[in-house]
Formats: sequence, structure tokens, C-alpha cells
Amino acid sequence: MVLDKLSESLTGVIRKITSASFIDEKFVKEVVRDIQRSLLTSDVNVKVVMELSRRIEERSLKQSPIPGLTKREHVIKVVYEELTALLGGKQEYRIPSKVRIMLIGIQGSGKTTTTVKLASFFSKKGLKPLIIAADTMRPAAYEQLVQLSEKARVKVYGNKDKDSLSIVKDGLVKAANFDAIILDTAGRHRSEKELFEEMKMLAEEFKPDEKLLVIDSNLGQTAGEQAESFHRAIGLTGSILTKLDGSAKGGGAISAVSKTGAKIKFVGTGERIEDLEIFDPERFISRILGLGDLRGLMERAREQVDEEKVKDILSGEFTFEDLRNQIIAIRNMGPLGSILKMIPGFSMVSMPKEAAKMTEEKMDRYIFIIDSMTKKERLEPKILSSSRLERISRGSGAAREDVKELVNYHRTMKKALKGFKKGRFAKGPLASIMKGIK
Ligand code: GDP
Ligand code: MG
Repeated sequence: MVLDKLSESLTGVIRKITSASFIDEKFVKEVVRDIQRSLLTSDVNVKVVMELSRRIEERSLKQSPIPGLTKREHVIKVVYEELTALLGGKQEYRIPSKVRIMLIGIQGSGKTTTTVKLASFFSKKGLKPLIIAADTMRPAAYEQLVQLSEKARVKVYGNKDKDSLSIVKDGLVKAANFDAIILDTAGRHRSEKELFEEMKMLAEEFKPDEKLLVIDSNLGQTAGEQAESFHRAIGLTGSILTKLDGSAKGGGAISAVSKTGAKIKFVGTGERIEDLEIFDPERFISRILGLGDLRGLMERAREQVDEEKVKDILSGEFTFEDLRNQIIAIRNMGPLGSILKMIPGFSMVSMPKEAAKMTEEKMDRYIFIIDSMTKKERLEPKILSSSRLERISRGSGAAREDVKELVNYHRTMKKALKGFKKGRFAKGPLASIMKGIK
């Protein structure tokens, strides 16, 4: 896992939120302090951390949760959204059908390795890649590429006796039948200015769609300064952050580079050729926070449950009418098991087997049965005698056992709900449903 230290501590924060008995100002401040500590340890800029914590605190306390979310889930959502924004927000990389990519960066940043990773990546996406080896500064640079690309089964063009500009020219001629042309360049020059000059000259010839800066994430937040200066001099279209697997300062590097004009497009997460990922801040943060498919949850929560009805369930006697509403709410949310899996922390909640296994079919049957009750029966479950049950069974076309099962189910829920009302759980439809069923 990349950034495992950061991930570990932030996952801890999320766990703390999900298991909190209630959310108040003191608790939010504590959570914010935990997040600060995690980010600072990962070399995120102090000012950035302070600004981020201020927003998390303010939004957690002052914004009211969107319908369908509890206060706790609201805080998690705020943390998730603010961290995602820190990394550049929503971002989608579309696989092109034809592309020219030029990699730029100082020696040792991982250009050559990343060149081969990219070629292999595009090859897997169905494009025909060709690498052009234009690092003439480093002895054996060409051999390194040949060796790596043999492993990856991708083609390389290079020429040890020519200068970099001629190599690019010749390479482009050879590239006529290829879709993804990736240019590896030199990172060592006498001066930065010389390096910039050569890159500009090669770019003019190569005409890349993408000029990507390759940066070592061990640089921490200073990676941002490097990205700025290359961007200013050469005009980048993005960047690739490497060695995220071994870096304790990765958080600083990612957040700092995300703030520059050179958005992160890929990250390198290991030495192997397949250790390259498209950088998607939302997914990245979800993973760092140990949230699973949070996006899915947010979308579903928005489809919401009727707040008023849930309040009735909580405040009243828990009649069959309430049970009917509860069943419908569950049905609208989707299968209970899958909702639970999407909510951090909730996967640990134990549910009665009956509730977890409630199939659509069963829900429909229960609703049919309830609909066959008289109003009085629905509101006063106590009066259900065996002759009444017999009548309901006949009226709904359900078997006697099914009616009994429903009555038992109602009793279980009622008992659970009593415990819940006395319990420590926050209100809110989602939690009500989850916990009401416990
Ligand atoms: P260049 O000088 O910019 O071409 O850098 P190289 O591609 O030669 O890489 C320098 C070193 O970094 C090599 O030992 C690579 O194996 C290593 N490296 C590159 N990318 C990654 C990465 O994502 N993770 C790890 N752990 N090592 C990497
Ligand atoms: Mg190299």
C-alpha cells in the first residue's frame, strides 16, 4: 500500500468518527488535530494543513448534513471532500487513441522506468507503443531502456552515435505506425538552464500532446517548487509522481504538486513495470481513508429516505404501519448488506440474520400481509388473535407460517428499537435503519 503510515493514521481517524458516541465541537476539534498530525508527519505544508483543518472544522460543525446522512457520516464526508480537494479534486484521465508523451525530469527521478511503465500501460489498453530513447547524457541509458523494454515487450528506438535532436527526428519517422510514442529524455546537464533549453528544443521537434514532469515523491513538499520551476520554463501539461511506495513524505509531494499547474496524471508505486496508476484524487483518498466505495454510498444516501417517517418510527409505538414504512425505506436504499459494506465501520455491526437476508420477495410479501390488516390491527399489534391471523392469511394469500413470521419479525424489530431509543446512536435515517435493525 502506498503512503501506509498516512493511510494508517487517517483510517484510524475515520474509525474514531464512526465509533464516536456523539459528535460535538470538542470531538470535531480532536479529530481535526488528529488529521493535522497525520498530514504534517507526511510533510504536507503547515499553512495548507491549517487552512484545511479550518474548513473541516467549520463545515463539520456549521453545515447541516444532507438528507440521508447522519452527523457522523457528514463529518466523514467533509473530511473526504476536503482531502480530495487538496489533491486537485475531481479528475479524470481519458485513455487517448493516439498520443505523444514527453517525459522530463532530473536524473534519478524515475523517467526511464516510467517510460517503460507507460509504454506497457498503453499497450495493455490496446495502443501500439514506441519508446524513443533520447537521453544521450547518461552512459548506458540506451542499454537500460533496451533491457527494461524487453521485459515489458515494447519497442525502443535509439542510437548511441547520434545527438538527442537527431534521435527524436529519426524516431518520429520510425513511429509512423505506432499509437503511443513516449520520449525518454536526459536529466543531467551542467546547469538547470541547459536542461530547460534542451527540453524546449526537443519539444519543438517532437510536438508532444503531453509534457509530463517526473518527480520523486521523496522530495516531499519541495516537489511543488520543482514542478513550478519546470512548468514556468517549459510549460508542462502534467506530472508523474514516482516512488510513492517508499516515501514517508508522499503526502507532502502529492499535495504540493497538486497545487501547481502541473496536475498529477500518474503515480509510480513500485519498481515493477506494472506499478503505475492513473491518479484519481477521489479514489486515491477513499483508499487512503480505508473507505471502500464511498462514492457509491454518497449517491445512494442522496436517494434518501423519508425523514418524517423515520422520526415516527422512532417516537411511536412501532406499529405494523411503522414496520411497513421501514421495509419500504430499506427497499429504496437497496440491499441492506451492500449498504452496510459501503459504510465505514458499519461492516462490524451485527444484524439479526432475518434483517440481513430480507429479500425483495420477502419484503413484498410482508407488505402484502400488512396491507391485509385492518387499520386497528396495524396500529395495535396486540389485538392480533389467531382468528385474525387466519383471516389475514386468507386475505393476503400468504401462508399461515408467513404471517407468523412477519409477526415475529415485528416483535424482534420492536425489541431492537426499544434498545436503540435508549441507546447512544445518533439520529438520522441511515443510522436509524442500521441501528434500528440491530
Ligand atoms: P531516471 O534517471 O529519471 O531515468 O530514473 P530511473 O528510471 O533510472 O530510476 C531511478 C531509480 O528509481 C531506479 O532504481 C528505479 O528502479 C527507481 N524507481 C523509479 N520509479 C520507482 C517507483 O515508483 N518506486 C520505486 N520504489 N522505485 C522507483
Ligand atoms: Mg533515465
